[in-house]
Amino acid sequence: MSFSTQIPFNKPFLIGKEMEYIRRAVESGQLSGGGFFTEAVHQFFQKRYALHQPLLTTSCTDALELAALLLDIQPGDEVILPAFTYVSTANAFALRGAKLVFADSQPDHPNIDAIQLERLITPRTRAIVCVHYAGMACDLETLLALAKQYNIALIEDAAHAIESTWKGKQLGTLGTLGTFSFHETKNIMAGEGGLLCINDKHLTQHARIIYDKGTNRQAFLHGQANKYEWIALGSSFAPSELIAAYLLAQLEEIEKIQTQRLTIWNRYQNELQDIEKSGKIQLPKIPQHATSNGHIFYLICHSASERKQLIAYCAEKNIQLTFHYQSLHQSPYFAQQHDGRKLPNADQFSQCLVRLPVFYELRAEEQTRVIEAVSSFYKSKN
Ligand SMILES: *Cc1c(COP(=O)(O)O)cnc(C)c1O
Repeated sequence: MSFSTQIPFNKPFLIGKEMEYIRRAVESGQLSGGGFFTEAVHQFFQKRYALHQPLLTTSCTDALELAALLLDIQPGDEVILPAFTYVSTANAFALRGAKLVFADSQPDHPNIDAIQLERLITPRTRAIVCVHYAGMACDLETLLALAKQYNIALIEDAAHAIESTWKGKQLGTLGTLGTFSFHETKNIMAGEGGLLCINDKHLTQHARIIYDKGTNRQAFLHGQANKYEWIALGSSFAPSELIAAYLLAQLEEIEKIQTQRLTIWNRYQNELQDIEKSGKIQLPKIPQHATSNGHIFYLICHSASERKQLIAYCAEKNIQLTFHYQSLHQSPYFAQQHDGRKLPNADQFSQCLVRLPVFYELRAEEQTRVIEAVSSFYKSKN
């Protein structure tokens, strides 16, 4: 047997100028947030996604918490969200005392089932949160219509969805609010980091106050207030310039990063087709009007036990595959609070979805090894 190096599921990387920009941030004399690099990141998103007010945060978790504060979510307010998501989507609203109402995934896609969701809306519903899983757009047609009809906020947890669109429009910019993540597992990374997109102009000013720890700092700096004061609830959301510096270097190479990830993603999609055709697995389906941004490549296995075997089989070949979210309505923290509705599709993805390695520095020969391992596993399964 030949020695093979470990192929991790994910690997943080440098694309170019990260270290140079970090050094510049240090030498500039401002390491706290809101300096040159934060401003440059804001401008990048303003220009690229036509955002009028992006706010760089320490994480997507943090951006979601800012969103919940901004919408003034109160104890007893109801928030509808997918069960198949990361805990941060839920925590942000639970921390404000909201009642979480978990919705199922679509039968053939991990995204929230927008059609089934209408009956979960009550007079207490304040917000719907959708997650564009693997960077593929949810059914925004239905979600936007429901938000409008019932006058509730739509928050896009676009943690996966940078550079991905619905009907040609960037995800995260269509709902009331949108959030991105720059965690080291995401396409564009800064170790930790996030961004809040405020798409409703009425919320901009208040967002800025919350972001500035509840002060009128902006107004004061612009000479619109003569005292610098505490005027509302707020918190600390801005990352240091070190993070913004790293992030800017990545954003400047966003096309290169995206091209590489999509090359990897498309190759998996092409070369695993035959196994899908044999009925042994399902590959990702890009929904109507949506795109792939090469964030996550997943397979759906027939069962949890088959998935476990596949992960173990690949681990023996030094290839790391990983499962993903465990339905939040079944979680130890929440199970007692759940209203008992069955969410079979979310459970199915919890049990049967497995992710293959996708990262910028994954080499073609390494990807070949992954494809061969998955193929030979399924060859042995009739
Ligand atoms: C990664 C992720 C988050 C959290 O992002 P952080 O930047 O790590 O806080 C939230 N929601 C989803 C769907 C994610 O995948």
